[in-house]
Amino acid sequence: MADVTMEKIVSLAKRRGFIYPGSEIYGGLSGTWDYGPFGVELKNNIKNLWWRMFVQDRADMYGIDAAILMNPRAWEASGHVAGFSDPLVECKKCKRRFRADHAGDACPECKGTFGEVRQFNMMFKTHIGAAEDESSVSYLRPETAGGIFVNFKNVVDSLHPKLPFGIAQIGKAFRNEIAPRDFIFRVREMEQMEIEYFVRPGEWEKNFEAWKNAMYGFIDAVGIATDRVHELEVLEGDRAHYSKRTIDFEFEFPFGRKELYGLAYRTDFDLLAHAKHSGAELGYLDDSPDGGGKRIMPHVIEPSFGVERTILALLVSAYREDELGGETRTYLKFNSAAAPIKVAVFPLLKNKPQLVEKARAVFDMIKKDIPQTMWDDNGNIGKRYRRQDEIGTPFCVTIDFDTLEDDTVTVRDRDTGAQERVAVRDLLPRFSAS
Ligand code: ATP
Repeated sequence: MADVTMEKIVSLAKRRGFIYPGSEIYGGLSGTWDYGPFGVELKNNIKNLWWRMFVQDRADMYGIDAAILMNPRAWEASGHVAGFSDPLVECKKCKRRFRADHAGDACPECKGTFGEVRQFNMMFKTHIGAAEDESSVSYLRPETAGGIFVNFKNVVDSLHPKLPFGIAQIGKAFRNEIAPRDFIFRVREMEQMEIEYFVRPGEWEKNFEAWKNAMYGFIDAVGIATDRVHELEVLEGDRAHYSKRTIDFEFEFPFGRKELYGLAYRTDFDLLAHAKHSGAELGYLDDSPDGGGKRIMPHVIEPSFGVERTILALLVSAYREDELGGETRTYLKFNSAAAPIKVAVFPLLKNKPQLVEKARAVFDMIKKDIPQTMWDDNGNIGKRYRRQDEIGTPFCVTIDFDTLEDDTVTVRDRDTGAQERVAVRDLLPRFSAS
């Protein structure tokens, strides 16, 4: 794991059908990436695990799926129209643009000098409907949190949740990053998994601690190397003005220690701002014994997770090289929750109809129970093992001539390369046990 490089990760991701450059046949589009067959399975596994842990397994969480296009007044209220910007500098010589806080004193490309720093708003602007004037301007959402706050009242009115409770959303967000970089670490089109957890003002500290622990719970369950994760307490001067406490969860990526996730205490800033700008009553009628029927503005704890950064941290955490049978091999040590394919099934030879027929029957049986099961009959067995190792498939099942006699198959373990004979009827219990 120590010597994993970005070149190795990017190359494996492309070669094995995880992640391709966006619009590649047209020369790509900076800051966009497309997910191939294993990438989309991995991504769905991550999102499903997150949804399961933070929405379905809890009684205090409510999921929503809000529109990406929102009334632009919501982004005025949240402060994004005025202030969602990064400092931009342009090189006087080559005219290239950089983020001032990442660029240093001189142009990294041509050593030219920079002009004045100016603020660059990162929201993607678009127009709604046929008119292309100021009145039709809208934005692609730069974060999923906005859709949660504008639906706070809807969720309260339709479900009557008791404090503390949270609203969760997974979805696309768009940021016109000045310099997308580091593969899928900094992209212009991303997915976020966000929670706004509403608490009584005096109870934010204990809820902040509980969410910090819950975030570690997810990091561990998804399979990110916890020894590469570090907490950074964001100091007062670096925090958003409304935040009383923020922790960045940083991960040791091959290009340095960088933000993976964030956890922020946002006070009642958002609900107050949306109440003021929309005119809606967003106060919460607290009729619990403690609340005494008073209307209060709940305070908010916000755990925020990026899907792309999760994928990258997982690839880095899972990447392994070792020696097996006298050869160097590469494999991805995904856990069973993350692995895009759980089992691969092969006939030993693809030109022997009896073997193929039996292998198909075994494949169909496993696939009914474990949908992320793959058929593979390309190349010889050694090639198939190497391919499945790089996909991160925990088990390969080979159907050979002995299978036709005794109904046993070879099960090969990804991590050790060890092979054992297992009766077909024992396969499903064997896989569900691991
Ligand atoms: P950074 O400082 O790296 O730009 P940020 O502090 O602006 O990130 P947040 O606004 O807190 O990020 O967004 C929440 C989460 O969304 C981040 O922790 C990260 O996982 C993810 N994220 C944010 N911007 C991007 C991006 N451009 N590409 C991929 N993921 C992103």
